[in-house]
Amino acid sequence: MENVIIIRYTEIHLKGLNRPYFEKALVRNLESALAPIEGAVVRRGESRVYVENVPDEKLDAALDVLGRVYGVHSFSPAVRLPQDFNAAAEALAALVAEERAKIPKETVMFRVEAKRADKRFPMNSNEIAAKAGGVILKSVPGLKVNLSDPELTAYIEIRRDGAYCYTRVLMGPGGMPVGCNGRVALLLSGGIDSPVAGCMIAKRGVALSAVHFESFPYTSEKALEKVHDLAKLMARYTGPIRLHTIRFTDIQMTLYEKCPSDYLTVLMRRFMMRIAERIAEADGCKALVTGESLGQVASQTLDSLGVTDSAVDMLVLRPLIGLDKLEITNLAERFGTFETSILPYEDCCTVFVPKHPVTRPRMETIRDAEAALDVEGMITAALATDVITEIGA
Ligand code: ATP
Ligand code: MG
Repeated sequence: MENVIIIRYTEIHLKGLNRPYFEKALVRNLESALAPIEGAVVRRGESRVYVENVPDEKLDAALDVLGRVYGVHSFSPAVRLPQDFNAAAEALAALVAEERAKIPKETVMFRVEAKRADKRFPMNSNEIAAKAGGVILKSVPGLKVNLSDPELTAYIEIRRDGAYCYTRVLMGPGGMPVGCNGRVALLLSGGIDSPVAGCMIAKRGVALSAVHFESFPYTSEKALEKVHDLAKLMARYTGPIRLHTIRFTDIQMTLYEKCPSDYLTVLMRRFMMRIAERIAEADGCKALVTGESLGQVASQTLDSLGVTDSAVDMLVLRPLIGLDKLEITNLAERFGTFETSILPYEDCCTVFVPKHPVTRPRMETIRDAEAALDVEGMITAALATDVITEIGA
């Protein structure tokens, strides 16, 4: 008898001929996410993946990791035995006794769910369930069969490579394995929204580069550290992040001196997008991603977003566009980034905020303002300050 973790996926089933490609990406990501669990081995089975060799004292840590790997639909810590009904039923009874003991009730409703994946096995699934139920009832006190509304379900699966028994089905994050849909570049601030946007878009199978703009000396070392910490927290979901840090101070000073103050934020946004687009191209990214949500602030009205988009040719994705701040905050808590995001360090955008930012910027005004600038020279100078850090690799 050995301990294994069964990993199930769903969406990647749909990919037909591409399926092996998605499965391999999932296995690769599981391997790197489980790297800290010494000894753990990831193996492809029929329409599922197994994690083997996890030391008992590391099981909880491994389960914790699996809850964050995109492409995992659900997973179960299980025991694997040879295809011997009696031995399997006894092993299942032992697992049920363990789970039953966790429920402080005199009688616990339970049922057995059986699956015969290996059709050569002599008993059908109804027979397996009924007989295993009998074995369990005999050895575990305080149980009552209830097929429609059980508090505890005991699972037994007969497969070609053995019998699998388990009592727990834990939910994974769903989505697609990171990397199987290419790469995108996230504009990452130190705020609440952009880390959530990154975690959400990665769920659709894209790997992340991130671009952060800092305004030293107006923004501090601490603010930068915070962004690194956020990227590390995100990497638990998104996998390794290639973080670019760009010094934005000179551009902000120039805009501050030469441009109408109410246009400062949208002009800054346009420069951020242009610089991020160059970095994205160099990193092989197919889209830019921001944490913007429609109407949240002046720079996120339909007019402002349109003006921001028109600075670049690359596709811009905004995973949070239809979410309220409260919904975004809840997601930040779920992804574990919230506590870090609310640390009170200044962001480059908060240092140079205009008193009355435009909510309906006019393209003509923007064109005039930018005509007075050496846009290309400003971008080139900023790109030269790029500091690359591989986070979570
Ligand atoms: P966030 O919580 O992500 O900071 P926000 O609500 O504060 O968002 P803005 O400050 O208007 O919104 O920023 C909108 C988006 O622009 C951010 O979600 C992010 O994608 C990008 N952005 C803002 N500041 C920076 C920065 N310093 N570096 C990189 N990207 C930034
Ligand atoms: Mg911000």
